[in-house]
Amino acid sequence: MRTPFLAGNWKMHKTVSEATALAREIVAGATGSGNRIMVAPPFTALAAVGAIVKGSPVRLGAQNMAGELSGAHTGETSVLMLKDLGVEYVILGHSERRHVYGESDELVNRKVKLALERGMQTILCVGETLEEREADSVESVVAAQLAGGLDGVEEASLGQVTIAYEPVWAIGTGKTATPDDANAVHRFIRDWFAKHYSAKAADAMCIQYGGSVKPDNVRDLMAMEHIDGALVGGASLDADSFLAIATYNKE
Ligand code: PEP
Repeated sequence: MRTPFLAGNWKMHKTVSEATALAREIVAGATGSGNRIMVAPPFTALAAVGAIVKGSPVRLGAQNMAGELSGAHTGETSVLMLKDLGVEYVILGHSERRHVYGESDELVNRKVKLALERGMQTILCVGETLEEREADSVESVVAAQLAGGLDGVEEASLGQVTIAYEPVWAIGTGKTATPDDANAVHRFIRDWFAKHYSAKAADAMCIQYGGSVKPDNVRDLMAMEHIDGALVGGASLDADSFLAIATYNKE
């Protein structure tokens, strides 16, 4: 039984005061679902939001981290600095990092391994562009991103890994993959883990869907056999909409 995992990626939104107000509202409403819930504010608000979510059911995540531990890397943030702030999760390989900032599978892999070595939970994002979907290469693209991102990662570390399947054409566009289409890719991802690791690892793997998840489509997506959670962008910026998603199964 995989615990539903609903995560909010606030991207480059929210000043510290806006982020703390949002975090307070989310903490107040996040109890009682039994779900795993995480928010990833911008770096500037991590400390303040961390103080608010501490001791609550809401976990603290970062949106990115450096591929190196320390040194001359202007503008980068080390896993050590994130851990120091109480960050437990890091989102890696988000499509905006891959497609806007040119992150390669090799760089994503370095970040994943460093995060895992240092005891961080990672959310590894994979997903195809519209051109790749139209060219019928969804499975080959996703398989290459999984193989690249997880190169050298042992099965013993997979308990720290969540996969977020985020078709690039569905992110921030209002277009969602149908639950059946998303589930088919999630099933492919689970089978990939069975083939490259083990049936046990595949069964335990938490696979989130991301791409215009909203309060009105979350239940249909979460009803699918292989969809274990959601990585939410736009709808995580408002407490009511994020809580409707994060506690979608609350009685
Ligand atoms: C995301 O940024 O990971 C995302 C899925 O965004 P949105 O929910 O806005 O599509």
